[in-house]
Amino acid sequence: MDADWVARFADEVIAEAERRAPGKPVVCASGLSPSGPIHLGNLREVMTPHLVADEIRRRGHECVHIISWDDFDRFRKVPAGVDPAWNEHIGKPLTTVPAPPGSEYPNWAEHFKAPMIAALAEMGVEFHGISQTEMYTSGAYREQVLLAMRERRRIDAILDQYRTKKAKAKEVLDADEAAALEGSGAASEDDGSGAGGYYPYKPYCSFCDRDLTTVTSYDDETTALSYTCVCGHGETVLLSEHTRGKLVWKVDWPMRWAYEGVVFEPSGVDHSSPGSSFVVGGQIIREVFGGQQPIGPMYAFVGISGMAKMSSSKGGVPTPADALSIMEPALLRWLYARRRPNQSFKISFDQEIQRMYDEWDTLTRKVTEGTALPADQSAYRRASSTASATLPDTPRRLPYRTLASVVDIATGHEEQTLRILRAFDPEIGGLDELRPRLDRARHWVNTYLPAEERTQVRETPDKELLDTLGEAERESLRLLLDGLDDHWSLDGLTTLVYGVPKVLAGLEMDAKAATPELKAAQRAFFALLYRLLVGRDTGPRLPTLLLAVGRDRIRELLDAGRAA
Ligand SMILES: [Zn+2]
Repeated sequence: MDADWVARFADEVIAEAERRAPGKPVVCASGLSPSGPIHLGNLREVMTPHLVADEIRRRGHECVHIISWDDFDRFRKVPAGVDPAWNEHIGKPLTTVPAPPGSEYPNWAEHFKAPMIAALAEMGVEFHGISQTEMYTSGAYREQVLLAMRERRRIDAILDQYRTKKAKAKEVLDADEAAALEGSGAASEDDGSGAGGYYPYKPYCSFCDRDLTTVTSYDDETTALSYTCVCGHGETVLLSEHTRGKLVWKVDWPMRWAYEGVVFEPSGVDHSSPGSSFVVGGQIIREVFGGQQPIGPMYAFVGISGMAKMSSSKGGVPTPADALSIMEPALLRWLYARRRPNQSFKISFDQEIQRMYDEWDTLTRKVTEGTALPADQSAYRRASSTASATLPDTPRRLPYRTLASVVDIATGHEEQTLRILRAFDPEIGGLDELRPRLDRARHWVNTYLPAEERTQVRETPDKELLDTLGEAERESLRLLLDGLDDHWSLDGLTTLVYGVPKVLAGLEMDAKAATPELKAAQRAFFALLYRLLVGRDTGPRLPTLLLAVGRDRIRELLDAGRAA
């Protein structure tokens, strides 16, 4: 089998792990900041190491995928829609900020972690979550913190090599913008330099719990650290005992690589530019912590389409849970598996999702028939299963676009939905066989299909239009109605709607003909049918629409003779 990108990284990571720590489990890592709703765009931060870790497990190696929750980062800003009273918490660790009003979670970080954890479980992502609050406050990083402070001059010198290089590029970004781009980590945090000298450790004030502190002195012998806070508080603590503070991001990240023995951790585009945290971190881990930088490919941006209209009304950003509400987990996994990390792609909440699903169904068919290309086969396998589980699948797959059209037309009525769908596949025993795909399509129609694109079958015939029809148009409707019973199937109705204009032109119903005149006549006929059935010039594919509307209703709406 051709090696896809996942297999190639797995080869590299296994070899490197053997070299660095023979016999130990392989460690892959991701970092996520629960500073607000975790954006769907950040899912790549998890999916890239997940797929590699999963491949390593499939090969029989032990592998841990760590997700570092950056929940000891400072609360940077109050998102739109949250009580401005939360402003008083700016500068506190995310785990001490109260959860948004009405939340069942104990704090801000937990509130935003929870939906991400649920989404990852649904997607079959196995991981070991590590709370940075727990790690720092338990003193787990004590030795590393003391080491970084001892080596602060060396760290300062390393940072200094990059400060000038990136100062110009970075200054134009405002802190939040920079943080959003980097995704994880306290990207906007300062690097530890201050008027009183360079200190890579930042205490949270023991009086106000904010990080608006300045370290004023540190004694290597006694580990006595003095700081002042903008609130007026100031004190001296022993760093050998103090646990309410953290290393600045650029030092924190390489410290964790060394602490956990991370061999693979990809990062966003911005992390990999010259002077970025990843590059600086590589030098800091070598020269200060005596470790090695992980293999860290840069991953490209994942775009979202069709959410713009929604986001303002829903007051938030698209999250993985939003994506899972309209697509099955395997399909979402497939979007990540089939593209190399450096290729950007889009996740569609608009009509494009129907095409995406068609592609997925085509691939599934090819895999079943054994005709899929090796790389496509790998992507399919990674999407539909993991080393330890098979992702839920819909037992009886009908095209997403069909389900969406039918749900749209049947407006959620279960019995009617079943009746219509049986015209597509008479073997359907019950709607459960069509789940979960059916529910995803329904949610998509109800949430993301714009009102002007929804289909509303007319309640009563459009008498006005019917009265104005010429003889040829009346004849076309008669031919259609006369042919309904004999053509009452998806294929039959396709033949019928294309065939009626042929018969009018003196051809056979199933003649192979495609002159420009005939095509124009077919277009005009289709537009007439849409007008009479749904009051618009376009709509779902006609055979689908006709099946969904049902014969009695079609006769009622199209019978020019009776209406007149
Ligand atoms: Zn304070």
